[in-house]
This record gives sequence, structure tokens and C-alpha cells, in this order.
Amino acid sequence: MKAAPEVQKRLLDLAELDSALDRLAHRRRTLPELAEIDEQSKRYAKLATEVIEAETEAGDLARDQSKAEADVDTVRTRIERDQKRLDSGAVSSARDLAGLQSEIASLHKRQGDLEEVVLEIMERREAADARVTDLLTRRDEVRTTLSEAESRRDTLLADLDKETAEVRSRRAAVAGEIPADLLKLYEKLRDQYGVGAAMLQAGRCQGCKVALSIAEMNQIKAAAPDEVLRCEECRRILVRTPASGL
Ligand SMILES: [Zn+2]
Repeated sequence: MKAAPEVQKRLLDLAELDSALDRLAHRRRTLPELAEIDEQSKRYAKLATEVIEAETEAGDLARDQSKAEADVDTVRTRIERDQKRLDSGAVSSARDLAGLQSEIASLHKRQGDLEEVVLEIMERREAADARVTDLLTRRDEVRTTLSEAESRRDTLLADLDKETAEVRSRRAAVAGEIPADLLKLYEKLRDQYGVGAAMLQAGRCQGCKVALSIAEMNQIKAAAPDEVLRCEECRRILVRTPASGL
């Protein structure tokens, strides 16, 4: 394949722009914000689940408390009813009076027990409510951290998009100066090796960093300037410049 030396040198510009695009793509994939967003998203999801669990527990306890308070009311109503009967004087037999008084006494004990239950539920409910509040605060803090990281990521991605578009447009201009067959070879090598063309610098291929033998250097010296050369070692297009050491 043949191409004017100036055209061959443009391959080095193209390779440099392609490396810049690779670096931009790498930066895009490895933004620290991405790892942070991933971590904070997981924390947020975990806290959101814990909030639901804690809210369910607090809700259950609120229902338990209402039920226990209703039980206390039922007993209190029965005590009031019995007390009224006692006070009314309608019960006259000594045995019935003793029975009524004994029932009132046991109802008072029952009321005391049920009030203990209410207090115990209230304590647990207070703890559950405090846990809900604490989890909501932590969840919202993580949401804020997450939003900030997302916002930083978006800004950085927008900058990278802009830079990438600029480099792409410069690359398109350079690629436009290169004949189709040479460009095709370059693209094929770039797909295979990541870099399609390398400079021969001071007797060394800058693609694979291997120093050429004296025989290889002599072959290159003898080659026509418009001959497209390839590195024997890495197969990349080897571009000669005044710095090649020929
Ligand atoms: Zn090489």
C-alpha cells in the first residue's frame, strides 16, 4: 500500500485523537461518582425497606394499643355498672352482695393488669416511632447525598460529552484527509490492537516499544517514502518522521 508521507503522518494525529477518545470513554466508565451512586443507592434501598418495616411495626403497635385501651374501657364500664348496682341498694342478700363485691375486686385487678399491658405497648410504640423517625432522617440524608452525587455525575458527563464531541469532530476532519484504503487498514488494526498506527521513534516502534534490528532499520531506509510500512512485531502501521533515527 502506498500513501504520501504527509498523509501517513496524519495517521499519527488520528491515533492520538483515537487515544483521546479512549481516555474519555474510560473516564466516563470510571467516574468515582458512579461507584458512589451505586453504593448510596444500595444504602437508600436498604433504609427504605427498614423504614417500611419500622412503620409497619409502629402501626401494629398503635392497633395493639387501641385494642388494649378498649379492653380497659370494657372492664371499667363493667366496674361502673356493678358499682351502681351496689350503690343502688337493689342487691340485698348478703351472699349476692359478697358476690358483687368480689366481682368488682377481681375486675379492678383485671383493669390493673390491662393498664400494665397498655403501658408496656406504649413504651414499645414510643421506641418504634423513634426508630421510624431515625430511619426517615437517615434515609433522607442518603437521598440528599445520592442526589448530590447524581448531580455531580451529570455535570461531569455533560463535560465529557462536550469534549468527546469536539474530539470526534477533529477526528472526522483528519480521517477525511486519509485515503479510504489506508483508513480502512488503520481502522482494522485499531479494532484488533487498540492503536492502528505508531511512530518509528529513534529506532523503536512506539506501538509495542520494541527496538528494530539493524536489518529492519536498513530495510526501512531502503523503502520508498510513500510505502506504508508495518511493525514486524505488533503489525501496526509504522510511520516514519524526522525523529525516526533513520
Ligand atoms: Zn510495533
